[in-house]
Amino acid sequence: MTTPQFDLWIDGATRASEARFERHSPFDGTLVGTYADGDAGDAERAVAGARRAFDTGPWPTSPARRRHDVLVAASRLLTANTDALAERMVLESGKPVTLARGEVAAAARCFDYYAGLVLSAEGSAISERNPGALGLILREPIGVAALITAWNFPLLGVVCKLAPALAAGCTVVAKPSHMCPGPTLLLAQLLAEAGMPVGVFQVVTSQQERGAVVGQHLAASRAVDKIAFTGSTASGQAVMRAAASNTKRVALELGGKSANIVFPDAAIDIAARTAIGAFTFNSGQQCSAGSRLLLHRDVHDEFLDALAVHAAAQVLGDPLDPATTMGPLISREQHERVLSYIDVGRAEAKLVIGGDTSRGGLFVEPTVFDEVDNSSRLAQEEVFGPVLSVIPFETEQEAIALANDSAYGLAGGVWTRSLDTALRVAKGVRTGKMFVNSYNTAGIDDMPHGGYKDSGTGREFGHVGLEEFQELKTVQILLG
Ligand code: NAD
Repeated sequence: MTTPQFDLWIDGATRASEARFERHSPFDGTLVGTYADGDAGDAERAVAGARRAFDTGPWPTSPARRRHDVLVAASRLLTANTDALAERMVLESGKPVTLARGEVAAAARCFDYYAGLVLSAEGSAISERNPGALGLILREPIGVAALITAWNFPLLGVVCKLAPALAAGCTVVAKPSHMCPGPTLLLAQLLAEAGMPVGVFQVVTSQQERGAVVGQHLAASRAVDKIAFTGSTASGQAVMRAAASNTKRVALELGGKSANIVFPDAAIDIAARTAIGAFTFNSGQQCSAGSRLLLHRDVHDEFLDALAVHAAAQVLGDPLDPATTMGPLISREQHERVLSYIDVGRAEAKLVIGGDTSRGGLFVEPTVFDEVDNSSRLAQEEVFGPVLSVIPFETEQEAIALANDSAYGLAGGVWTRSLDTALRVAKGVRTGKMFVNSYNTAGIDDMPHGGYKDSGTGREFGHVGLEEFQELKTVQILLG
């Protein structure tokens, strides 16, 4: 079988670059694609095209109904191409196919949601404050948006920025991670099929080092009005510094070290099953992972027993096999990094589940450390792998203080049958989202996602996700 070749996507067509890079499957090492290794010049061309498409239209000034129709068509095309999109994610990232298919479905729903918002979006008017005047508050597209994204949600991570940007009337340059660029390039072709005008969506791919150069170029460009970034806190801070050049708007979705808090009156078995999912989903490579488990001492032993049962039910294997629940980690470097944290855990805490570092390939089994000190490296640093730190507590106040003793503030969970306890804890933890008797989702789509503290700034999804790509303009009219 010939290896798929991917090029840049600029001005409605594929564009070759001088250099190329390869991606090998993290599962079995086979070559799964070659890609254009774009440089700063390519980024410049992509930005120039997006700028032209914004400044001369027709997208930003097109009727809402037209933008709605293209977004709906995009959603349908995503669904119709689920197999191809999911397979690309699996091959490049090692994500299990059931998760990849779920990600395509979530991305299609995201297009649907913003298609709906396009038709219902409204500004407002003030007629009461001065009888002789009228005030208008208008929402306008922010301009050219650059989307710099990570590899762990290689489709949804792009679409949750792209759909609101397009709904607002922005034009876009996307720079996906070199670890999983294929889904963004397939998306570009589907958007063209959906009727997107030339230049509205551009894609620049590049290998690791150049990826940072291209990302910095986009962040610093005076022709870009907004950066929406997903990645590590260190890269996000570098983006923020570069973006200061033209005071562009910046949204950063960064790392996390979220606390999942279990009280003695919790439904133990469901809480334990969910706690395993909270740190093993996508092999722990998720920003919102519940990677700290704050466990009340009264249920400590019972809960650890239940955790062991559910950890044993995880199926590590070929990510193309629908039975697989955990695929390999994304790369050799990431694998080594996670194993080094397991070594740190062995030195700092008590290993109670997993921890076998001799497993083949890039797999890491669910690994749980108990009696972890919240100030230790294991409890403070983002591992980005299936490693859980259990931190026992005795009082509600102590649990809230432990949860908040973190540089991050992205997500969190609380398990209790007491509504009062649940709400006090949900309000007390300084984090962008909290789950009660659930983790990662209680089945409510389109709620805003984003972090406090070092977890970032700005929000994605929901109404606020659209507002992130809009400027407010006020108009004061003196009536004659
Ligand atoms: P990363 O920071 O290495 O890379 C992210 C993107 O930024 C890539 O496209 C990369 O090429 C680019 N980049 C790297 N250095 C840059 C620089 N100096 N300037 C501009 N661009 C640069 O992150 P990653 O390893 O791809 O992703 C993992 C990280 O992403 C984790 O920390 C995770 O928590 C975070 N993440 C956060 C969310 C969220 O919603 N909060 C979601 C997914 C991932």
